[in-house]
Amino acid sequence: MALEGKRLKNMGMKSERLLWPTKGPGNFETEVDDLEQKIGLTTLEKGVAWAQTNSMWPDTFGLACCAIEMMSIVSARYDIARFGMEPFRGSPRQADLMIVSGRVSHKMAAPLRQIYDQMLEPKWVIAMGACASSGGMFNNYAIVQSVDKIIPVDVYVPGCPPRPDQLIEGIVRLHEAVKAGVPPAYELRSVAS
Ligand code: SF4
Repeated sequence: MALEGKRLKNMGMKSERLLWPTKGPGNFETEVDDLEQKIGLTTLEKGVAWAQTNSMWPDTFGLACCAIEMMSIVSARYDIARFGMEPFRGSPRQADLMIVSGRVSHKMAAPLRQIYDQMLEPKWVIAMGACASSGGMFNNYAIVQSVDKIIPVDVYVPGCPPRPDQLIEGIVRLHEAVKAGVPPAYELRSVAS
């Protein structure tokens, strides 16, 4: 953990120098300073969030053309392994992240919800592309007009299709939210209808 600007001497431990401003730091301060350089201090919550964001395994779940872009994030060019996310899981019970990549037909709505329900908490959802986010160009009776009518969504990635870079941007934003302590979408809101 970065300790820049959080050194104890910057946080009020200056009693000796307040009494005697010209005196340098005492032995205790010097030793604590030295110790701070060598160890990292954090909270359990931050440690857990750090671990979660570095092992967020996606569920293998592609629905349409966007799925091709999603698959390419495991390639050497985009290298999602940087985030510990290369193991796309075949079982929802081993997955933390559902990337809904493509249009969701009404026929697929029930299986999609079932797979989401089988994922253990905490779990997150990314709606990838215009179709998953809003129905896209398919404003018709066959397509669900946004996956957030079925499951709560954490991050929406725009585009048709979004480039893999855009999906990675969405993933990074999700990681930032988790590290900042933002609860998963299912804790913040239910599905729209
Ligand atoms: S957003 Fe575009 S690329 Fe993605 S599923 Fe819809 S039509 Fe296909």
